[in-house]
This record gives sequence, C-alpha cells and structure tokens, in this order.
Amino acid sequence: PLACWNGERLPLSEVRVSVLDRGFLFGDAIYEVIRVYSGKPFLFQDHLNRIQRNLEKMSLPADLGSIQRWIEETISASGFVEASVYIHVTRGVAPRTHRFPDPPPTPNVLIYVAAFHDSYSQFRHSGASVVVVPDQRWKRCDIKSVNLLANCFASEMAHQQGCAEALLSDDSGKLSEGSRSSLFGVKDSVVLTAPLGENILPGITRRLIQQLCEECQLEMREETIHQSQLDEIDELFLTATTMEILPVTRVDDQPIGDGQIGPVSRQLVDAYQKHIERFRNE
Ligand code: PLP
Repeated sequence: PLACWNGERLPLSEVRVSVLDRGFLFGDAIYEVIRVYSGKPFLFQDHLNRIQRNLEKMSLPADLGSIQRWIEETISASGFVEASVYIHVTRGVAPRTHRFPDPPPTPNVLIYVAAFHDSYSQFRHSGASVVVVPDQRWKRCDIKSVNLLANCFASEMAHQQGCAEALLSDDSGKLSEGSRSSLFGVKDSVVLTAPLGENILPGITRRLIQQLCEECQLEMREETIHQSQLDEIDELFLTATTMEILPVTRVDDQPIGDGQIGPVSRQLVDAYQKHIERFRNE
C-alpha cells in the first residue's frame, strides 16, 4: 500500500510514529474508510463531512482541505483503480497527560491506499450467518474513533463461531448495529434501521440505502429492531463502505424468514450495483 504521512508520500511499511503520539497512548484519534471505484473516491463529500464532524466533536484542529488534497493525491499516485483508502488523524505528540495538551500539538495524519479485496464474497450468494453479542462499547459510538477494542472482541466472537459479523445488543435486547456495519431489517416490505443517536455510527452507506429506498419506492422507517422480534422479521442485511450490502440469512443459527436472501434485499443489492455503475461512468 502507498501511504501519505502528513503530506509526505512513502510506502506504508516505512511510516514511523512516536510512542508519545496520543493515538498510540490513548486511542486519541479518529479514522475513516473510503471505497475507490474506477479510480474515484465514492461518496467523497459525505466522508469528508463526517471527518469534519468527528474533528469538531474531538476538538481536533486538523485541516480538512489538506486532508482532502492528500487523499486525492495518494489515490492518483497509487495507480490503484479498485481500492480502499484509510484515513487516521491523531491529536499528535505531547508529554503524556490525560487532558488535551495546551497548546495543542500538530495532529498527525496518516492516509493509505490499498488494493481492494472483497472479504465477504463467500457470504454474498447464500447470505451471511451472524451472532448477537452484548454491546460493550463506550457511549459515544457516533464518533468514528480508533478505540475499537469492543468491536474487535465482538468481531472475534463472530469469527470463532464461523460467522461473518456480530450484531450488537444493548441490555434490553435492542440491536443497534454490527461491529463494523449498519443493520437493516425488512418487515412486511418496510425497511427498518435504528435511528441516529450516540449509540450508533452514522453510516455513509446507511444514508445511501435511505436514498435507494426512496428511488425504489420502498417505505423506510427509523425503528430499532429488538432481538425478540427476529423470528417475525422477513429479511435482514448489513451495510458498510467496503462490505456494501450483505444479506443475512441466519442469526445465532436460526433462519431469518425462510433462510433465503429475500426480495427486498435483492432489489437493494441490484439498485446499489446500478448506482455504482452510474458512478463509475460519470
Ligand atoms: N457501524 C460501525 C460500528 C462501523 O464500524 C461501520 C463502518 O466501519 C459502519 C457502521 C458502517 O459505516 P459506513 O457505511 O460509513 O462505512
């Protein structure tokens, strides 16, 4: 992969960071992932807006204009056509104190571009199996911070059970999202997803799905799915930037609906592919 470290281009393996970087010490950093189709960053403005909102929520004084330019330059210099871009902004290097250093250090910005590999291809045709695990994350899941240990635990639990993803459940059994994806259900042809709040990440793909539902004249409601409703739900699917749409056909070894990928999921997968084709040809 090709990296850009504070504006300087170099191979990813050659980037060096101080052990006093607050991202390393405290996880005091935010990140972003963007998909590149036909050499172009997809939903670029939406991702830039989310970076800006995260910088503001963290009082992180990084310059969005430079980040945008570095992303564009790194994509072109990489020569990759089908790729993903990882962006990581830390509060920078300072003597170790919990409170934010005053004056603020210069943020460190890492960007790298890697060739895209679809790690979900084995699950796309038959539909994926997932498990439900308790949501052990902190209470600001709306911030895309690099503090992902609870997400890693959940993802590892899913992997150990041969599953593609973990659905996160709160104490009352409400399913907020996946460990690295947004969650959608379909009940009586109505598409359901949890309302935005501090318990979920405002997914960029989630927003696109809302738009595609409108285009497909599918009714969509912001309503949290409860674990106890799963036996009445007709369809379930997950979305994320590199995952796109992943139909889910089994939860905790129980089939969803008839255990096959449902018609609404198929319709949205199709609409998503057409949307990307249009973007490629723009
Ligand atoms: N929810 C969580 C917890 C995530 O980590 C992600 C993506 O990484 C998503 C949702 C999906 O977000 P997006 O569609 O912006 O990739």
